[in-house]
Amino acid sequence: MRTAIIGAGLAGMAAAHDLARAGHNVTIFEATPVAGGLASGFRDERWAWPLERFYHHIFTTDTAIIKLAEEIGFADKLFFRGQQTAQWWRGRGYDLNGPLQVLRFPALPPLDRVRFGAVAFYLKYMTSNWQRLEQTTAATWTSRWAGRKVYQALWRPLLEGKFGPHADEVNMAWLWARLKARSFKLGYFTGGFQALCDTLLATIRRQGVVVRLSTPASAARQHRGGWEVIAPGMPAEQFDTLLVTGAPSLLAKLAPQLPDSYLGQLSKLRSMGAVVMTLALTRPLTNGLYWVNMPKDQFPYLALVEHTNFIEPEHYGGDRLIYLGDYLPPDHDYFKLSHEELLGRFLPSLKLVNPAFEHTWVRASWLHRERYAQPIVPIGHSKNIPPLQTPLPGLYWASMSQVYPWDRGTNFAVELGRRAAQEMVQTART
Ligand SMILES: Cc1cc2nc3c(=O)[nH]c(=O)nc-3n(C[C@H](O)[C@H](O)[C@H](O)COP(=O)(O)OP(=O)(O)OC[C@H]3O[C@@H](n4cnc5c(N)ncnc54)[C@H](O)[C@@H]3O)c2cc1C
Repeated sequence: MRTAIIGAGLAGMAAAHDLARAGHNVTIFEATPVAGGLASGFRDERWAWPLERFYHHIFTTDTAIIKLAEEIGFADKLFFRGQQTAQWWRGRGYDLNGPLQVLRFPALPPLDRVRFGAVAFYLKYMTSNWQRLEQTTAATWTSRWAGRKVYQALWRPLLEGKFGPHADEVNMAWLWARLKARSFKLGYFTGGFQALCDTLLATIRRQGVVVRLSTPASAARQHRGGWEVIAPGMPAEQFDTLLVTGAPSLLAKLAPQLPDSYLGQLSKLRSMGAVVMTLALTRPLTNGLYWVNMPKDQFPYLALVEHTNFIEPEHYGGDRLIYLGDYLPPDHDYFKLSHEELLGRFLPSLKLVNPAFEHTWVRASWLHRERYAQPIVPIGHSKNIPPLQTPLPGLYWASMSQVYPWDRGTNFAVELGRRAAQEMVQTART
């Protein structure tokens, strides 16, 4: 079997790994010069380790990516650490990483703290019935069971931050899955996620997979019972099967010959984009916090992540690395503003975080934007998700939009890519 894969993100590479092991002859087309997709990194000349364009960590519960790391001999590069993840309230970040911390959170009256703790405990340890939870919105469910004050202080900022104008549509299964599948300890790789992706890339290349970097596919045509992939400047290549990874709009663009009903289903899968500014500061910004959820009515971003409170600054030439990130509709102004304009909006707010902050602390900054970053999951979403096998023979699709009820992430990209490979191998055998 000759198999083409569009995209060398974790889903595409994990699929290639299994397909090659099953004897398929695999070629990957990747638009960018590096492997890793959304989890890929960039590098400053002063740094020993690359840094993710978008903040990344994994959880101890992320068994699929941990297993893949083991298989490619990278498990010894994975480490887990306890971190301070906090909610910003009245001028400081409050660590909410555990029951005791929640009981001390002053934004809520004591009874509501207990209610919040009880509801979080119920969701994390006492129910797995997400099918029932997806029939109601997270806003309705949490207001009812944890109370209006808890909803306003804790859940609403999270939902609004991630889904903006769609916050009230998001179903409760999404929130359940976030609590269920997350550990207090966070994981990272020596050399960052790029090192994991580069090792996976080297592994699949050794397995015989052809990976064409900097080669965007522009079309996929049915050809003699198989698929022909077109990439500008290259002769068309023929394959028996094709796996597209990435946004629904990418699949629709590459294969417009898909039935109208299916294209209609793709167009209904909505998502949020992400805009993330990274700053290299000459000194620390917070007093040891890694992740702080910021109230969007006071800050021009949702998350402030001080990466070097998680990973030692020594790996980055002593730089203190700060991410300022937000999830936004793909037509939001932040996708149009220049780097300088966004810096102008973001930097003044850092004085609220640390009154001593001065612009002179900023040694360098980088801006990364991605229009397809976080699928929106409304009530009854399980029925909206197309299967991995499309209606056209030999054409498969594996994307973040099919990760459910779990929140999309590298672990689930690996799991999905491997599931796609398994289906492709099984279909090829029958
Ligand atoms: C802000 C942000 C923070 C995140 N934080 C975390 C985190 O902390 N932990 C975590 O586990 N996950 C996190 N994620 C999610 C995680 O990065 C993704 O779920 C995962 O990387 C998706 O992998 P994928 O292979 O499905 O897709 P992608 O990584 O998007 O891969 C698709 C690939 O297809 C390529 N491509 C697109 N068009 C073409 C074309 N025409 N031809 C060829 N190639 C093409 C792209 O360049 C890309 O490499 C985060 C994501 C964002 C945006």
